[in-house]
Amino acid sequence: MKLLVPVKRVIDYNVKPRVKSDGSGVDLSNVKMSMNPFDEIAVEEAIRLKEQGVASEIVVVSIGVAKAQETLRTALAMGADRAILIETDAEVEPLGVAKLLAKVTAEEQPGLVILGKQAIDDDSNQTGQMLAALLGWAQGTFASKVEVEGDSVAVTREVDGGLETVKLRLPAIVTTDLRLNEPRYASLPNIMKAKSKPLANRKPEEFGVDISPRLETVSVSEPAKRSAGIKVGSVDELVAKLKELGVAA
Ligand code: AMP
Repeated sequence: MKLLVPVKRVIDYNVKPRVKSDGSGVDLSNVKMSMNPFDEIAVEEAIRLKEQGVASEIVVVSIGVAKAQETLRTALAMGADRAILIETDAEVEPLGVAKLLAKVTAEEQPGLVILGKQAIDDDSNQTGQMLAALLGWAQGTFASKVEVEGDSVAVTREVDGGLETVKLRLPAIVTTDLRLNEPRYASLPNIMKAKSKPLANRKPEEFGVDISPRLETVSVSEPAKRSAGIKVGSVDELVAKLKELGVAA
């Protein structure tokens, strides 16, 4: 079985985002970019399925700027076999990404597409669900456990108040949650080996889908600054303050 894993290049999760002075978006100049953390988990899960003998090939795909090649090389260094970059300087929204991924899925015919549950830059949490709808495939979202059994996959999902296990007929879509696994680091020899693994460069126009934007970002703003606290000298003073602020009766 072939596995397809879409990976997105996003602002590194350790970086504190700076909003552009005109409020039009996040300033990405000179900012460290990395693979979306949920996509690292998806790559790791695919590698584990290959190690178990369930999967035979892992194809990673990214839609983005030329530098997204680096993200794909990271996935190849972790253990993916082959990569596809769909290169564009345009910002492609989740529906556009899902349409392109649907075309790649039709070409590659994977048994399972494993995506992150959300990209930490737009926090959309839409692409996997849209892809499942476009393909008419079953979906198991927010997976904390994935077990392939014959022609189906059991996905344990993190839901409010507990865990839910669903069984999907393959081919299917899975999106990863944080606790599914702990992604491995690529070793130096594997980073070197990844340089010679195949990476195809494609353009969105080749796929014949409309990826024009449907959304307009009206404004982006920093979270409100926390105001300074006040120190009180005693419990009585605290109660009086709370009453004054209308927090206590
Ligand atoms: P989102 O719906 O934007 O929160 O993204 C959910 C998941 O879709 C991500 O974790 C990726 O697996 C995939 N994805 C989103 N955008 C892209 C992209 N530009 N290239 C590759 N995969 C993507």
